Amino acid sequence: MKVSTNGIKKTWRIIEIIKWGEEYFKLKGFENPKQEIEWLLCDLLELKRIDLYLKFEDIINKSKLKKLKSWIKRRIDREPLQYITGKVEFYGLKFISTPQALIPRPETERLVDITLNSLKKIPEPKILEIGTGSGCVSIAVSNKKPRANILSLDISKNALELAEINAKSNNCKNINFLEMDFLNEIPDGKFDILISNPPYIPQKEIENIMPEVKNYEPRIALTDFEEGLNFYFRIAKVGRTLIPNGIIILEVGLGNHPQKVFSLFKEAGFDQLELIKDYNNNERILKINI
Ligand code: GLN
Repeated sequence: MKVSTNGIKKTWRIIEIIKWGEEYFKLKGFENPKQEIEWLLCDLLELKRIDLYLKFEDIINKSKLKKLKSWIKRRIDREPLQYITGKVEFYGLKFISTPQALIPRPETERLVDITLNSLKKIPEPKILEIGTGSGCVSIAVSNKKPRANILSLDISKNALELAEINAKSNNCKNINFLEMDFLNEIPDGKFDILISNPPYIPQKEIENIMPEVKNYEPRIALTDFEEGLNFYFRIAKVGRTLIPNGIIILEVGLGNHPQKVFSLFKEAGFDQLELIKDYNNNERILKINI
């Protein structure tokens, strides 16, 4: 954003910023340059995309411009939009998003869908979530199942701190958050259902993922630093103790990952297994009836 030639600071209208931003993000090699500037503006001005164009002549005030400038700089460095604005929507609810935890993904909404579907006949289910991160999955389930009793584990204090904030802002009163290293410990009690979107990216694939993910999201939430199967092995090992008669619902990765997880459970003696597709026709959820 430059100063005009006569030395007087130029005023910037929404439409001028969109045009300038589109060019700038394009120059910097972004795939959807217009979308980048639109998203930042929508958040900055608290407007819907359509309103940006209805109010395209509006002038952006100085302090907003300053904020936008710093946001653009961060985005150019490939920081994810959700960390820049600090917000994300998941399952129709609003969440705070910080580098303390993984950014909730739209794909993971499928995990919530299947969980809620499976709980239709249980009015007060006992639910265990492994690796709650931002808390998005447990909070979305809690929102639709206020009489459930939810225990949400994470090894990361940082993540749990964020999850607690998100639970509070979404008015959830039925979740207990607990710091635990699930690979080495298990919680007390029996549950009706275990749900998890565990760290499943194999360590050797981390280098090839997009910079937004690789450089900004907590590594511990992305990978188990091995083959991306450790959490599934652990769940297969302790699942029957924790959920003697219930259901396990797990998110799985792409490529041959779903099949690997399926085989792992099969070999551990589980025989009621179902791989469920997402809306992109990828198998992304494994449902196991014990
Ligand atoms: N449960 C959280 C989510 O689905 C965190 C998952 C994780 O950290 N692997 O976004």
